[in-house]
Parts: sequence; C-alpha cells; structure tokens
Amino acid sequence: MPHSANTPTDAPVDARARRAIAPVICYPVGSLPQPDMARISAARARTRPGARTLVPPREGAAFRVSAGSFFRITCPEGAQVGDLNLFNAANPDERFFSGKTRALHGTHLKVGQRMWSGFPYLRPMATMVADTLAWYGTDPHGGRVHDVIGTRCDPYTHWLLSGGQMYHHCCHSNLTRALAAEGVEGAERLVHDVLNVFMCTGFTADTGQYFMKASPVRSGDYLEFFAEIDLLGVLSACPGGDCGSEHSSDAAPCHPLLVEVFETDTAALEGWWQAPTVNGYDRSHGA
Ligand SMILES: [Zn+2]
Repeated sequence: MPHSANTPTDAPVDARARRAIAPVICYPVGSLPQPDMARISAARARTRPGARTLVPPREGAAFRVSAGSFFRITCPEGAQVGDLNLFNAANPDERFFSGKTRALHGTHLKVGQRMWSGFPYLRPMATMVADTLAWYGTDPHGGRVHDVIGTRCDPYTHWLLSGGQMYHHCCHSNLTRALAAEGVEGAERLVHDVLNVFMCTGFTADTGQYFMKASPVRSGDYLEFFAEIDLLGVLSACPGGDCGSEHSSDAAPCHPLLVEVFETDTAALEGWWQAPTVNGYDRSHGA
C-alpha cells in the first residue's frame, strides 16, 4: 500500500511557512536595571587585596565577599575549569539561578551581565566585570566559554552511565563538602546548577547534545565579578581539568584555581550604589 501523505507525522503543507516565522526574544532585557560599568571600574581602582583562597585540583573551597567588593577567579598553573555556586552569605536559601540567568542573558555569560538569584529573591548577586577570554567569542563548533547550560558533574549521573561506579570528586561532591565545611546545614540540597567558569561548551548542530571541548584558558587568565550582595561562594576545580576528554574520573590532568577578593573602599560606592533589594513581586500569586 502506498504511504499516505496524511499520517499525523507528515509535514503539513504549510510547514515551510511555519518554520519561516521569525523568532522573538523571550526576555527583552532593555528594561532591566543596568550596572554602571564605568563607576564599578572606578571603584575597582580603589580596592585593596583581601583574602585569597586556593582551590586544590579535584576539590572545592569556599570564599566570602562583601557587597560592593570584587572577586577574581584565576587559572594560575594550567588549563582548568571551575564550577561556581553563589549564595547570599546570610541566607543560603537565596542562591544562583542558572536557568533564569540563561533565559535573561544567553547560554554563556559576558562582561556586564549578572548572575541572578532564584525565586522569590530574583535579584543580581554578582556582575561580571572582567574576562581575559572575552576574545574567544564563538568557535566553528558553536562553542563558547563560561556557560550556564551545564549543571555540574555529579556522582549520580556518573553511577548511571558507568554501570554503578562510585566517584567522590565530581563537582557536585566537591561543592557539597566545601559548603558543609562552612557549617551550612543540608549542604547537598543547596548545591545548585553552576556557572561553568572557563569551560568551553555548546550544543551540537545535528543532535542538539551538550558538548564540551578543551578550554582555551591558560595560566594567568581570569574572570572577575563585582559582588552585588554579601556572598558565600563555593568553587570546584573540576576533575575534568580542561574538560577536553572526560570528567567524573581521575584521568584528566587537573590544576588548582585561585580566588582573590579585592575589598572596596566604601567611600568609592557612596552616592551611586547600594545592594539591590529582593524582588518586589507581592508573592500573593493572585490568591
Ligand atoms: Zn565538574
């Protein structure tokens, strides 16, 4: 019997026209409050070095940054990617919301864009102010750096894919231990989808699958942020190293990451900056 042209899975006659409809941006960000990058940069010039935290390879570590100060994540010794979680230092329930940050800014973060906290807070936690990998742009594979599309490598997915192997140095575990060491109760459930610092990722054109490739990061490269609220950060030096081969194992060469805080002279912030308030929605949900 000839194949019917009217089965439910056949393309309709107006398929071309439907596909040709132009996309619209889900969240036009023109009305978002914008960071004053010139004044932030002037404030950065009036900072003094604060705490330094070295994150060992295949481990995690915590750091704290006061609102109005800066933190820099450097790759000091060799190509290495990091998985970053941010919390309100006074309330770990307020934490980075990778999904909404992606919806607002795009799949990979750039200078001038923010890391946003989750509901019901939804306010800027940190603003990216410097990136020595900004030159990388988009490579021929569609790869870019600093994504908010991955989640974090974790021992549960690894267990599923490896036929039941236990591995304890996935970023999820490193972040959990680092957060628990800060005395935060229920650390594992507070660990969340990350900013993939220095990681080079994208989606394959044919299958739409999440891919990674060796990060272009080299010793001395850094990413810097302005803290919009008092922050507790945790950073994992991913067991994938530069993520050019595999993660969730001890196979890849791994290097440390350095977090440096730069404390701002509060006089440099007077009159033009204050920490953003939590989101103003009344939370009634119409009830
Ligand atoms: Zn990882």
